[in-house]
Amino acid sequence: MRWSHYFLFTLRDNPSDAEVISHQLLARAGMIDKLAAGIYTYLPLGWRSIDKLMRIVRDEMNAAGAVELMMPCVQPAELWQKSGRWQVYGKELLRLKDRHERDFCFGPTHEEVITDAVRRRITSYRQLPVNLYQIQTKFRDEIRPRFGLMRGREFIMKDAYSFHTSAASLDEAYRAMERAYRRVFDRCGLRYTAVEADTGNIGGSESHEFMVLAATGEDAVVSCPACGYGANVEKAASGPLPPPPAWPGRVPAAPEAVLTPGTTSVADVGEFLSLPPARFIKTMIVETDREFAVALVRGDDELNEVKLKNVLGAVHLQLASEAKVEQVTGGAMGFSGPVGLKGVRIVADFEVMRLEVAATGANRADHHLVGVVPGRDFTPDVVADLRVVRGGDACPRCGAPLEVQRGIEVGHIFKLGTKYSAAMECCYLDERGQTHPMIMGCYGLGIGRTMAAAVEQNHDEHGIVWPRPLAPFEVELIALNPDVAAVREAADGLYGQLQAAGVEVLFDDRDERPGVKLNDADLIGFPVRVVVGKKGVEQGQVELSLRRDRIKLPVPLAEGVARAREALASV
Ligand code: ATP
Ligand code: MG
Repeated sequence: MRWSHYFLFTLRDNPSDAEVISHQLLARAGMIDKLAAGIYTYLPLGWRSIDKLMRIVRDEMNAAGAVELMMPCVQPAELWQKSGRWQVYGKELLRLKDRHERDFCFGPTHEEVITDAVRRRITSYRQLPVNLYQIQTKFRDEIRPRFGLMRGREFIMKDAYSFHTSAASLDEAYRAMERAYRRVFDRCGLRYTAVEADTGNIGGSESHEFMVLAATGEDAVVSCPACGYGANVEKAASGPLPPPPAWPGRVPAAPEAVLTPGTTSVADVGEFLSLPPARFIKTMIVETDREFAVALVRGDDELNEVKLKNVLGAVHLQLASEAKVEQVTGGAMGFSGPVGLKGVRIVADFEVMRLEVAATGANRADHHLVGVVPGRDFTPDVVADLRVVRGGDACPRCGAPLEVQRGIEVGHIFKLGTKYSAAMECCYLDERGQTHPMIMGCYGLGIGRTMAAAVEQNHDEHGIVWPRPLAPFEVELIALNPDVAAVREAADGLYGQLQAAGVEVLFDDRDERPGVKLNDADLIGFPVRVVVGKKGVEQGQVELSLRRDRIKLPVPLAEGVARAREALASV
């Protein structure tokens, strides 16, 4: 491709909303163009990369036995009403009406559509299992679209859905998908890890997320370097914490109220009462779609809202407003505690119950209780794991210190069970003629997010350093002074030969200054560069370099193509 005939415009400056490097570089390299918040055009160069990634994904899906189809973007509300998600999905679901005022949505995911399609075709155990996938545009009206392709509103996803008669059969497909995902990310040259993920309250039994490790990742990934345990922080557990410093003085026979004027944070009250934060019980009043509830964690811990949501069986959960806190506890916000609370479920973290004595809020403005004994002074309705795991905590499997890193979730595989098949009557007849809902799995992979993650992991101060499998072109050929006839001839010749050799080459034949061309080449970052300049041509030479190390090597013009192919084979 000749640049002068292409549609490629690099930018000098970062877009003002581009916070992360992949967004900055993909925009500046002329690969994506923002149309509206979270909505992008894939420009020709960007689309080549996306297309290569989609080919890799297709390849591996097909090899793993999945079958491609294509479902519509626009989906009728009836299917979502049947699955129950029309009511619970919330504002991320873009809802539309047609000219007859019928409700539709733009698909954020396709469990409903695929389950309906399978339901109307498959009736017998003999026709199962089946695994169907598509690569298609989704829309999710994300509350904070950001980071370019990483969290868009309109984005491309590969989504697969499998249908089974047994847990063992689902497990087989799940493992095949896990292997296929590993091959996809390996082939893209990404550093990633697969970790256990939260299954929410869908009732699914197993879920893994594929995380590309990068400082800009929105997720925290907990891992154990000793035994290989890995989990999203939403799900990660730990072994017991070391006990906090001893309680100063005697333990009273009943909790004692103390005046703590204006001190609401654990740090402030702790300082005021000379108690370490770990001796406090942090009390949070939450509101779910079903009830108010009280969550207790140790003062030096953070509440993991995902864990709490699962314990409460809630779909939505938020901290209660000040007015609601007063209503539930009878006291001011910031002074809540579990002692004497009635009419609400109390969920305590394991570590709270391991405190033999503690301090907490007194449900009375400007007062805390000291000498509170869990089990004696209050009894939780549920004791569960509610805390956010921290780096250095003990691994739940082997006890070694855990590490916490940032990750970008590029893929998510999930054992769904019968949630959708039961709700939507997607059933089969077994050998004895009995009806059962099919057992399902679903497997998502973000195409744009994976491309962005590749840039997060592969760049330097000059621009993108494409891993070869995702590079839009493999070689950039630059004619530094195309106005010089000898340069033009040599470059034209090389261009023809590279094309004839099947090398994907972008030929920068623009009428631009050499500095501009070289900077652009660094910015867009194809693996191999061949530069034809006036001085070199006079000596019968061109300059070859790899984007990775940018070390320039003069090679004879006649060997240009062979050497470029050799260089390509080395990256
Ligand atoms: P997240 O927690 O990041 O919102 P999710 O759990 O909603 O992700 P899934 O529903 O499992 O994501 O979607 C499957 C894959 O689709 C994700 O692993 C991710 O790669 C991609 N994806 C999800 N949301 C977006 C988005 N807003 N923009 C780009 N890719 C996305
Ligand atoms: Mg999401």
